[in-house]
Amino acid sequence: MILLGSTGSIGQNALAIAQRYDLNVEVLVAGTRIDILNAQIAQFHPKQVVIANASDIHKVNHPHVRAGSAAIIDTIEHSGSSLVVNAMVGFAGLAPTMAAINAGKKVALANKESLVVGGAFVNTSRIVPIDSEHFGLWYLQNGRAIRRMIITASGGAFRDWPLEAMVNATLADTQKHPNWSMGQKITIDSATMMNKLFELLEARWLFGEGEYDALIERKSLVHALVDFVDGSMTAHLAHANMQLPIAYALRGRVDEPLLPAMDLVAMGALEFAPIDVARYPLWELKEDVLRHPHKGVVLNAANEAAIKRFIAGEIGFMDMANKVKIAYERFDARPRSIDEVYAWHEEVYQTVLTL
Ligand code: NAD
Ligand code: MG
Repeated sequence: MILLGSTGSIGQNALAIAQRYDLNVEVLVAGTRIDILNAQIAQFHPKQVVIANASDIHKVNHPHVRAGSAAIIDTIEHSGSSLVVNAMVGFAGLAPTMAAINAGKKVALANKESLVVGGAFVNTSRIVPIDSEHFGLWYLQNGRAIRRMIITASGGAFRDWPLEAMVNATLADTQKHPNWSMGQKITIDSATMMNKLFELLEARWLFGEGEYDALIERKSLVHALVDFVDGSMTAHLAHANMQLPIAYALRGRVDEPLLPAMDLVAMGALEFAPIDVARYPLWELKEDVLRHPHKGVVLNAANEAAIKRFIAGEIGFMDMANKVKIAYERFDARPRSIDEVYAWHEEVYQTVLTL
């Protein structure tokens, strides 16, 4: 496989699965954490390595190292591997996803932003998602008529904070996720609930038109539910560990114990609650976003710019949702091609940097 984003949270879990099942890793692609990358090179012996910045090449212990986004695309196009695992973060993941699909490869896709912004132009038959909720929905499909598909949210770092305290939340506060250990951006997206808007869009592109919704389940043990037309409902339960969806995405099936069995008595009560727009103001956009999924490019570009400003200390935590909502109202993006997705991304991103 070609693994994009090997040093990140998903990347490291993907390598744990590669190790466990003895899968071949042809290419490692990473950003700036060269110490972790060097340890991965020593363990997995990739043929090629690509990193973000040319200035770091001399630090990498490998004879074939290239740098930059063009090198990532070129490597995907010229490698023999038929599987690309895309665990990069943000809009930067779109071009590699498109390149992999155009090269006839299968994409195990953690980079949900690819689908959020470009879902209309992505051949999803080439994609297997790496996301616990979409894995859960896939697991529950049984050919019967579906009324509604539901995914769950933990509520993120501020689910129990007094509402008035959230305006002063810091970057460090956003990173205290109650149930999952993940990269910085998705952990911020979990605190604002943007992650769940993204996942509804991701579900819409993967499973087609239909009814989608999300609910809070604080234990992150139920990941998805399917509400069937006949009145039955089924739920997918598993421990909160990305190695399960990753193993399925990489291998297609898992026939031996991978995660500990669910212990219903130890689990105790499960509760489901609606997502409160006072705590998560972005949730007001849910219905409109699902009706106009092509506006995902606006949502994502505004979010990336707002997060950049929040991390820089320029705007507060609650300002992120405000900026995204202003941009969402202002830009009625209807991209007709992937090139127009890039153009809209740039326009919205630059606007929100100074909004
Ligand atoms: P992360 O920040 O931990 O890792 C991102 C990886 O991408 C790192 O290896 C980084 O070096 C690399 N990278 C970033 N920009 C790059 C560039 N320009 N060139 C080369 N490499 C670059 O993020 P993560 O939590 O692993 O998430 C990755 C993606 O998976 C995101 O889209 C996220 O939404 C999605 N996802 C994550 C989880 C999770 O449990 N962490 C679950 C579901 C989906
Ligand atoms: Mg998820």
